[in-house]
Amino acid sequence: MGKKAGRGKKAVEKRKVKRGPKQKPPEDPVLRGIIVGIAGERGYEIAKEFMGDEITDEEVAKRLDIHVNLVRKVLYYLYDNRVASYRRARDEESGWYVYYWRIEPERALEYFYNNKRLLLQKLEERLEAERGTIFFGCGNGDQKLPFELAAENDFKCPRCGGNLEPYDNSGVVAALEHKVESLRQHLVGKHA
Ligand SMILES: [Zn+2]
Repeated sequence: MGKKAGRGKKAVEKRKVKRGPKQKPPEDPVLRGIIVGIAGERGYEIAKEFMGDEITDEEVAKRLDIHVNLVRKVLYYLYDNRVASYRRARDEESGWYVYYWRIEPERALEYFYNNKRLLLQKLEERLEAERGTIFFGCGNGDQKLPFELAAENDFKCPRCGGNLEPYDNSGVVAALEHKVESLRQHLVGKHA
């Protein structure tokens, strides 16, 4: 609990000097990208306050002079994406529960790369399917059908009734190959 008093003091110092004496960790561009993707640029500005140190949502709202609900909204998005975590403690004076939040860079990156890996797996499966199947399309933008389904429908589009013709999917295959390759590059050396 002696820790708590120390934290309070630090917070006071930080309020006097706009940028506190405690150094923020250097900005990680990948982490930044993750957070901006979840919460936007403004959300990132809020999230930055929770980096390297645990702090309450109210304290950050005060520091940035914004409504605490906005801070909470950003925190919930980040929590949902495993980027933020909290610790609950009872305030001795008021008896209320106080939530101390922090950003979890390692967990965020792990979750992010796991999702990328899942995406890569799906794209690879889709690429295999595109390579191994002849698709048929009506040319009106409706969903393409593999040969079997097209035959079942007497080569008529189930949506618009148009004739189904063999569909040249080499463009799709090339686009998928490109995506798969760039994702693989992205994941080189990133272990779970
Ligand atoms: Zn159609």
